[in-house]
Amino acid sequence: MRMLLIANWKMHYGPMKAGGWIRAFRRERLPKELDIAVAVPHVSLAAARASLGRASIPALAAQDAFWAPDGAFTGEISADMLNEFGVQYCLVGHSERRVHLGETDAMVAKKAAALQAAGISPVICVGEDEAQYKKGEVAKVLRAQVTAAIANVKPDGKAPLVLAYEPIWAIGTGKPCLPQKAKEAHEIIRSVLQKKFSPSAAEHIRIIYGGSVDARNISEYVTTTGVNGALVGGASLDPRAFALLCRTANPA
Ligand code: PEP
Repeated sequence: MRMLLIANWKMHYGPMKAGGWIRAFRRERLPKELDIAVAVPHVSLAAARASLGRASIPALAAQDAFWAPDGAFTGEISADMLNEFGVQYCLVGHSERRVHLGETDAMVAKKAAALQAAGISPVICVGEDEAQYKKGEVAKVLRAQVTAAIANVKPDGKAPLVLAYEPIWAIGTGKPCLPQKAKEAHEIIRSVLQKKFSPSAAEHIRIIYGGSVDARNISEYVTTTGVNGALVGGASLDPRAFALLCRTANPA
């Protein structure tokens, strides 16, 4: 299975800066054996696409989408609108949206299904917070989040499902989850996928890890069984640093 690395700019780089990042990143030597995507703010999609032209490395990703195709939903963006920019992946249920904007598992499920129906791969983000981690509730939290989020999606097809395990306590803290712990969490997530789909379908779904990944620790994750890539926030803001991270993930 090809590894997937996604840069998540979060709320950084508007249209004035997006093109510069894309151009700088594309000047770097990039491994062809990995799938690489960049999740940009909605307002930067046009600039990012203009800089990319028809190029697909990095693939374009969005950070959120609404579930309805159109209508009276002020401020929202539909999956069909994202399609106009050739968006290939879209994050759904990032913990920052769950925490700051009250996104629920039910909303995440609707968004993921709408994205897939529009031909965009949903990257469903799940993960426990620090209190849940300390109470030993990781398995319980992950099973509930994943079961709810995948209610209406297919495992594969034109827009294959992706899961991202992102323990909230590891995001942006410089305290990454130990690879062994990430492996255990990915096994829990994959067991839910097996139950919902089938063991062979679940085997082909990419589960990526996110939380303080950088060029120094990426190799530990991509060499861990069951970890199929990474979602990278802070360490993706510098295009050269993110390119180095991509090369390190694939040293061949
Ligand atoms: C993220 O944005 O999903 C993320 C994991 O951020 P960071 O790499 O900064 O922890």
